[in-house]
Amino acid sequence: CENPKPTGPIDTTMCDYETVESVNGDLFSNVHELVQLPFFKYFQIDLYRECPLGWADQSKCANPSCAITTIDESQVPLKWRASALSKVDGLVDERHELPGCYYRDSDFCWLDDNTEGDYYDLTLVPERFTGYSGPEAHRIWRTIYEENCFGLSEFTLMSGKAPAAVTLPDTMTDVLREDGADTDQCLEKRVYYKVISGLHASISTHICAEYLNQTTGEWSPNLQCFVNRIASHPERLQYIYFNTVLLLRAVARLGPYLTAYDYCSTGTVQDDVETKEKLLNVISIAQKAGKFDESVLFRGENANILKEEFKAHFRNVTRIMDCVGCDKCRLWGKIQTTGIATALKVLFELDEKALDPHTNANLLQRSEVVALVNTLHRFSESLEAVNQFRQLWADMSSTE
Ligand code: FAD
Repeated sequence: CENPKPTGPIDTTMCDYETVESVNGDLFSNVHELVQLPFFKYFQIDLYRECPLGWADQSKCANPSCAITTIDESQVPLKWRASALSKVDGLVDERHELPGCYYRDSDFCWLDDNTEGDYYDLTLVPERFTGYSGPEAHRIWRTIYEENCFGLSEFTLMSGKAPAAVTLPDTMTDVLREDGADTDQCLEKRVYYKVISGLHASISTHICAEYLNQTTGEWSPNLQCFVNRIASHPERLQYIYFNTVLLLRAVARLGPYLTAYDYCSTGTVQDDVETKEKLLNVISIAQKAGKFDESVLFRGENANILKEEFKAHFRNVTRIMDCVGCDKCRLWGKIQTTGIATALKVLFELDEKALDPHTNANLLQRSEVVALVNTLHRFSESLEAVNQFRQLWADMSSTE
């Protein structure tokens, strides 16, 4: 196992690995600074929604690493507090009643209005090893991959019930086939699998990069964990790159909209200027490396039916997050599925006219913008971690 770096096109519709490699250091440092700023680090979310799958018996992760601390609303700039957000017109009428709560249909995602729940400072809750694992965690992943069964699973979370057709298989391998993206499925279904598997692989990379040695109590990268979960399955690494390019492409398309957005939090223009400066750097990198041709998807016969199905499945994934039994994992699961859903919406739902900030100033909610940028941060950080693991591997091989 020589663990070579992948080269050439990431996918038939995408740029090559080398392009992403050449920009990721710069991307990570810029997006990392960006997510430290007030606009991107404060997030309000209700983490305690009802699980739509009726898994009431699911035990919560008792490990202290699963816990997260909230922050007081007074720390959040006035403009983004719940009271201010709830005054935004038009939200209530468009909401759907789902088990236990209201969500808004935002194309690829059931979007929480983020006017309820606690505030979190995302810089204080890194995505890393929490100890959440075993049959419960597997059940969540299995259910998410099951959503890949297009045409079979009409799993209507609106009713809160999984129909009889969605019986969970006995073994994980029935669903989680390593060739999940490479069978004779159509392009769109393969894209769906790559998105999910890439998210799963990125989460695993964070777990291995910041791993808790439960004997010594020390946090450090765990190379064996990375080899087992990622490096020995090259396609999983490929899908981390795939998602990164997808997110970059969405950021590139959103460039004019994000540049015109109001990031001012304190009443002075300083926040706005600082945020936009960093964002412009990220957008310019995204224009170089966000090369993905979304126009090849959802074309031809049945394109609209397929798109509606794709949307319905991804929306379900965003709600399955409410069943994750570890607070910190649920927080990042919700943020990242919302971030990816926002990218998919930008790529597959919105044309240039819709993306024009002058004609469509309220196109995205703040939570969507925050989720998109934080998700890009997570994926870029995963690619940084992959490089560190490559170095660890090289160091280890040279001493053997
Ligand atoms: P799992 O990662 O649970 O995978 C189960 C099976 O899926 C594997 O046996 C394999 O067959 C298959 N598989 C694994 N990776 C892929 C892939 N990329 N593509 C296709 N198939 C794959 N744990 C933490 O410590 N910290 C977190 O922040 C965290 N966040 C989570 C967020 C969510 C939304 C979920 C559902 C879980 C989260 N977990 C987190 C738990 C973590 O993802 C694992 O489930 C856990 O570490 C157990 O790992 P495992 O090795 O048993 O395999």
